[in-house]
Amino acid sequence: MPAIGVFALQGDVREHLHALTELGADAFAVRRPEELERCDGLVVPGGESTTMWKLARTFDLLEPMRARIKAGMPALGTCAGMIMLADRIVGGMPDQETVGGLDVTVRRNAFGRQVDSFETQLAVVGLDDPVHAVFIRAPWVEQTGPDVEVLASAMDHPVAVRQGRLLATSFHPEVDGDRRIHRLFLDLVPG
Ligand code: GLN
Repeated sequence: MPAIGVFALQGDVREHLHALTELGADAFAVRRPEELERCDGLVVPGGESTTMWKLARTFDLLEPMRARIKAGMPALGTCAGMIMLADRIVGGMPDQETVGGLDVTVRRNAFGRQVDSFETQLAVVGLDDPVHAVFIRAPWVEQTGPDVEVLASAMDHPVAVRQGRLLATSFHPEVDGDRRIHRLFLDLVPG
């Protein structure tokens, strides 16, 4: 049973814990470096990336997360979590830091005010049927490095990407009962 932590200083932690537990993972909240050490994989949820960054700094999680991801720990970032996993962001706060690992540039709040939040059926590479994707003040990917695979796009921009053992979506796969994105992620965690 893989030990999967969910970054829990801020964001929609509970739904991810529920999804992961349903899939048979040993899922738990991560608020301290000791909890991060236990992780075979990490989920960084949706929420507010600027708050996540500040809290991760304050509670000494930012550097340990960087180190674990650099060392190959699988991670799934959704929405604000995608921003946290991106090497580069645009539309962030001045000095806003990320954990990084994904060789992408991500634009925060990319879909603009008119379409603040929306839902759509989205084809995802590796899944037979589309997912019902919920976007909430979501980022999109503006630029990808050579090792990044685009798994899904919306409005001509990537909204799901994979690089090695890192997976990120602009949308919220945890909000309905569809567990296929979490399953894709768990497939990246060495058994
Ligand atoms: N707009 C948020 C941010 O920049 C992300 C929104 C979300 O995670 N639902 O962090």
